[in-house]
Amino acid sequence: MSKLQFDVISIFPEYLAPLSLSLVGKAQENELIDIAITDLRDFAQGAHKSVDDTPYGGGAGMVMSAEPWANAIESVAQKSTGHHELIMLTPAGKRFDQSMAYELAQKEHLIFACGRYEGIDYRITEHYQGVENFTVREISIGDYVLNGGEVAALVILEAIIRLIPGVIGNPASLEEESHSIRGEENENLVEYPSYTKPASWRGHEVPPVLLSGNHAEIARWRSAQSEARTRQLRE
Ligand code: SAM
Repeated sequence: MSKLQFDVISIFPEYLAPLSLSLVGKAQENELIDIAITDLRDFAQGAHKSVDDTPYGGGAGMVMSAEPWANAIESVAQKSTGHHELIMLTPAGKRFDQSMAYELAQKEHLIFACGRYEGIDYRITEHYQGVENFTVREISIGDYVLNGGEVAALVILEAIIRLIPGVIGNPASLEEESHSIRGEENENLVEYPSYTKPASWRGHEVPPVLLSGNHAEIARWRSAQSEARTRQLRE
């Protein structure tokens, strides 16, 4: 299997430093994935190296210009001959979730476009929708507005990368976790609560069933807890 390639384009490459830490950092060291960060300013034009301009139609703030973005996207796309998923991070996009993480973990090349200011000239989205070998996805990490797409890219990258075979030591832990556990009607459930030693802590006891050694009972208890917690969340 060829290595999954991730490219992140941003005017603040330093914001993406956490990608060298922890399991994501190890996955790169172990050559399970490749992550490259591109500074949009390297593709800026003119003496002022500007990447933004005032919005057509008026209004507050600045909009990121199409040309530097197109040049940056085309430069990273050149690295791979296959299909590119261009991910436009925007609060106006489809809400990211675990099923999207599984879907994106199957792809060969993901390009994350981190907007700033009022966002990126919409013609970038329109243009690459019509370019061969590109799929464009507008993705939001939730119904709130961040200053830039970098944090959203970190969130999505971490959720995807931990699903790639070999990244997490024990793959069974991916099945028994929130949004992967299936309920009776095949809906996604959140995980049951977890406890570790000591069995008694500041007057709080571990639920006795977990100390019983009865695996069937424990499985029943966990599944009931998952159902109840999920129901409570969705109320
Ligand atoms: N004017 C835009 C709007 O109202 O939809 C918001 C722009 S926001 C201040 C700047 C950038 O942050 C966006 O272009 C996007 O890349 C990123 N961003 C902000 N909130 C986000 C979210 N919830 N999910 C993904 N990206 C987000």
